[in-house]
Amino acid sequence: MKVKVDKDLCTACGLCADTCPEVFEIKEDFAVVKVDIVPTDLEDKVKEAAQNCPTEAIKIEE
Ligand code: SF4
Repeated sequence: MKVKVDKDLCTACGLCADTCPEVFEIKEDFAVVKVDIVPTDLEDKVKEAAQNCPTEAIKIEE
């Protein structure tokens, strides 16, 4: 699974980085994804972060 953050939608609220700091990190004005492929054991946390993102900026690619 891959995941991206649309930096035009992201408000850098920090929720995704709180939920899954192994994958998301806040860089100045938006969140960045630190991994190319999401490790299998973190997929559920990444999905949770995507569902909870207030601006729907997190896009999951299966
Ligand atoms: S939860 Fe969404 S809006 Fe908040 S920092 Fe993460 S990607 Fe950006």
